[in-house]
Parts: sequence; structure tokens; C-alpha cells
Amino acid sequence: MTEQDPIAYPTIPEAEVQLRCNRCNKPITPATAILTETGYRCAECVRAQQRVFDTTNKLDPFLGFAVAALISFAGSWLSGMLGFFTILVAPGIGTLISNAVRLVVNRRRSKALNKAVLVGAIVGALPLLILAILPLLSGSGPLLTGGGNLMPLVWRVVYAALVSSSAYAQAKGMRL
Ligand SMILES: [Zn+2]
Repeated sequence: MTEQDPIAYPTIPEAEVQLRCNRCNKPITPATAILTETGYRCAECVRAQQRVFDTTNKLDPFLGFAVAALISFAGSWLSGMLGFFTILVAPGIGTLISNAVRLVVNRRRSKALNKAVLVGAIVGALPLLILAILPLLSGSGPLLTGGGNLMPLVWRVVYAALVSSSAYAQAKGMRL
């Protein structure tokens, strides 16, 4: 089904079609459209999605958290040597986290698992980020002597933001 398929749903006049479900592309009216985290969807797709989103067992979110935290931590150690290239590498590590979690939980899915992956990715990036902040807090570190020395901390923050948002977006199923 494509946008260029005007006769697919002849029961809804063109003038009333203001929205299309962004999953099945079916025309939907404002009255029946449901705004989801990823855009407007029809009621059937939302119901289907909710079923898909609840297949995990109690242990899965903890596994997801642990895997995400471990990989994120390993990646944050790596990104300490990358500087600018953190921008290119961090989303890839997010992908790695998402794929690894998917394997570990045998492709089961739930919103709780997605949130656990998000939190895990952030938590994994924190230890080295905090290590980069500590000299600032003590007021005695070399970080205060020149703006250039702030960059390691900046890249840690960039890494934490990118790796967690990338892992979370892909955990939510925006890409397989
Ligand atoms: Zn739909």
C-alpha cells in the first residue's frame, strides 16, 4: 500500500482523509486516530502493538538492564579515546546494545524492557562520566585551568545521550 493508492479505501472521501496510520498507512480520521509515541495510528494497529509489547517475563527487564549497562560501560571506556568520533560510534554502540538485549531475552518485548534498556545504557555511561566531573567538584583539577580540558567531559555527556537514545529508540522497535 502506498500513498499513491487513492482507490484502496473508497469509503472515506478524500477531503476527510487528513491522517494516515503510520504503520499500515490506512487513512484515519481525527476522531479515530490515536497519537502514539511514534505518530498517529489506527486503533487496530495500536491494539496489535500492545499485544506485541507485553511478551517479557519478570526477569527480562533485569537482563536487559544488565546487558545494556555492561555494553554501555565498555563503550564509554572506548569513547574516552575517541573524542569527536564519539558522535559516530555511540549510536552504533546503542545498536549493539539493542541487538544484544534482543538475543538475551529471546526477542521478547515490553515497555518495561525498553525502559530497562534505556536506564541501563545511561547507568553504564555514568561511572566514567562521574570520574570526569569529580575534578571539577573538587576545584583542584586541571579541568578548571582551560576550556579545552572540558572536552573529555563533554564527550562523555554526548556519549551517554547518544548511546541511551539510540538503544532506546531501537529497543522500541523503530528498526530491527
Ligand atoms: Zn494502522
